[in-house]
Amino acid sequence: MSKDSSSLPVALVAVLAPLPRPLSYRVPSRLADRLQIGSRVRVPLGRRQAIGYVVELSAAAEGDLREIGELLDDRPLFNAGHAAFYRKAADYYAYPVGEAVRTALPAGLSGRGAQPVILSDRLYRPTEHDDPGRGPRQQELLAAIRARGSRLLSELRQQFPAPHATLNRLVELGLLTVDTVERRRDPFASDIVPHPPPALNPEQQQALAELAELVDQLPAFAPVLLHGVTGSGKTEVYLQTIAMILARGRQALVLVPEIALTPQLVARFRGRFAAAGVRLAVLHSGLSDGERFDAWRAAIAGEIDVIIGARSAIFAPLPRLGLIVVDEEHDASYKQSEAFRYNARDLALLRGQQDGAIVLLGSATPALTSYRHAHDGRYRFLRLPQRSSGQPLPEIALVDLSGAPLAGGLSPELGQALADTVTAGEQALLLLNRRGYAPFLLCHDCGATLRCPNCAITLTYSRVEQGLRCHYCDFRLRPPETCERCHGANLLPEGQGTERLEEEVRELLPEARVARMDRDTTTRKGAHLRLVEQMARGEIDVLIGTQMIAKGHDFPAVTLVGVLNADTGLNLPDFRSAERMFALLSQVAGRAGRGTRLGRVLIQTFNPDHHTFDHVVRHDYQGFAEQELAQREALDYPPFGHLVNLVLAGNEPSKVEAAAAELAARLQQQAGAVEILGPAPCLLVRLRGKHRVQILLKARHRPPLRRLIERLQRSELRPSAGVTLTLDIDPLDMF
Ligand code: ADP
Ligand code: ZN
Repeated sequence: MSKDSSSLPVALVAVLAPLPRPLSYRVPSRLADRLQIGSRVRVPLGRRQAIGYVVELSAAAEGDLREIGELLDDRPLFNAGHAAFYRKAADYYAYPVGEAVRTALPAGLSGRGAQPVILSDRLYRPTEHDDPGRGPRQQELLAAIRARGSRLLSELRQQFPAPHATLNRLVELGLLTVDTVERRRDPFASDIVPHPPPALNPEQQQALAELAELVDQLPAFAPVLLHGVTGSGKTEVYLQTIAMILARGRQALVLVPEIALTPQLVARFRGRFAAAGVRLAVLHSGLSDGERFDAWRAAIAGEIDVIIGARSAIFAPLPRLGLIVVDEEHDASYKQSEAFRYNARDLALLRGQQDGAIVLLGSATPALTSYRHAHDGRYRFLRLPQRSSGQPLPEIALVDLSGAPLAGGLSPELGQALADTVTAGEQALLLLNRRGYAPFLLCHDCGATLRCPNCAITLTYSRVEQGLRCHYCDFRLRPPETCERCHGANLLPEGQGTERLEEEVRELLPEARVARMDRDTTTRKGAHLRLVEQMARGEIDVLIGTQMIAKGHDFPAVTLVGVLNADTGLNLPDFRSAERMFALLSQVAGRAGRGTRLGRVLIQTFNPDHHTFDHVVRHDYQGFAEQELAQREALDYPPFGHLVNLVLAGNEPSKVEAAAAELAARLQQQAGAVEILGPAPCLLVRLRGKHRVQILLKARHRPPLRRLIERLQRSELRPSAGVTLTLDIDPLDMF
């Protein structure tokens, strides 16, 4: 970064190509004083040119090196510390380093494409002349600028109609100077509502005191798990920890699941910090490329104090990072499910180590892995066992579905509770983890269902869209009149999705205001937010939805939560199914009774004896965790062992299977301490037209697993043509 290192003759470049490690290039003298770590460059690669990112500069030249062709940006995109972090992340996930860096960077800066335009603004400053100006317009403008020391044209435009000509005149008169400056796009539109800190309860005080100790020790990596029940005031602990970090001149990064990244949350942060001049940026998928580009440039320039963002914000280039908060750290959306399959929660720990920062993981239902590390003392363990309001946690009851007469999927108990809630002017949430009108169309003559031709799943029926749709590849079909197999005319919707539930609740409670929140109703930009706001204003009585409704919302008027069928997630062939179910049920239950009224939760199930429910009903996270962990230990599942999933996919099933069998056999020969499971068909044996087979690698310790992966990467074990191999390190979804 410094001038001395930039004149070093060799650059290590992470090239955009499927290469595991960076390549060395000679720095031509014409670029020597401008090239830095974080520079984007064009380099020769084989017979073509490729884009790459400089990740290291050194003096050592090994052999005959090719030369960097071109420098593409005026300023570096990241610094040496960030480069080291990106390389470690790529290495950990066995992903090509150049591609990993590209994933880290915002779209406009990442690749070949044009970078977004840099917007400019004009900054006016008064000169020493104290001439009051001629005429009222000049005088008003001068006064406005002098009062603040300087003003931007973009601001003045909001206050004065067409100020341009007058400003030019004042510059000519020597009363103002003008400079062109870079203008950042600002995604915040709303006003700031102050959000002063409340007096902390004793548990919050205790947590904050321990965090203060860690802040005193900065820079030093310190992993912390904050286990706080829903509504316990975890966010308040984050806010006050951030305040301590900022007071030390350090910066903070706050990761939240994408869906929880609502303007309400952002408003809370702004309300606390904006008045103190803290510079806040938000990074999420809804931003334009230009907005992201600006936030990135501001961050690397040291102009940002706090970044709030979803998964990919873990790569944001804050130069003096002191704290990373991972809110709802158990959330599966931290794992990217394609291409660079990183988990932002795990990368937060890696980055904390790299930067000497505190990593604060928060959840009401921590991932069992995190719980185990905290329990063993590898993380500091902080707990908030009470709700901050002093309200008790909601009362949870199970409703046995076997033999229960159902009306629109609702048992008599849930139907009555719903009616009572609406009558009392309170709000209810209904969780049904299945979109669409009905899961499938079933032929009532021959039992045939309609399946996606590309993916091994049934097509979901939507009445609103008058169509069938695949939720994996988006294949769509008009519902046929007759069964393809027997040509019978009794093709009827079977089972229940959120769309059908909505219709049925409307019939049951005609006077209630009913709305639905799922991926189908929230695809349009702003739709999710609109529902959240309507709910917050009390314009909805019953909100029906998929797991989206369970995440992070704070609706004080919700007193009833109903879960339509809790069994769907329990019996998936995945060792984490109980953990996921426990988290989902606890989280959705936690939406009830956050205000002054006691909350109530009804969970409908065909398996009321399942051990998971026992713990859910008693709000007993710890009991659940200990029971699950005992089972995992017996089988070497995480956190006691480590997994890597290899997925082979291709058009021809026979080729894929042959390649998988061959790969498994060769892995077996070199396995050592690694257990090779499979090959076995993936849970989704066909996806987007590809046949899929998986091989699961499991080991008690990481090093032998890593060695095997390295061999695989060095292509000794590459599968044949027509078959792709995907590596998933620490997989979350077993399909
Ligand atoms: P969590 O993140 O644990 O779900 P929040 O931080 O959102 O909980 O807190 C829930 C509600 O309680 C919020 O409205 C918050 O402003 C409020 N709150 C938090 N701490 C306190 C406190 N010590 N005193 C009063 N209200 C508090
Ligand atoms: Zn499909």
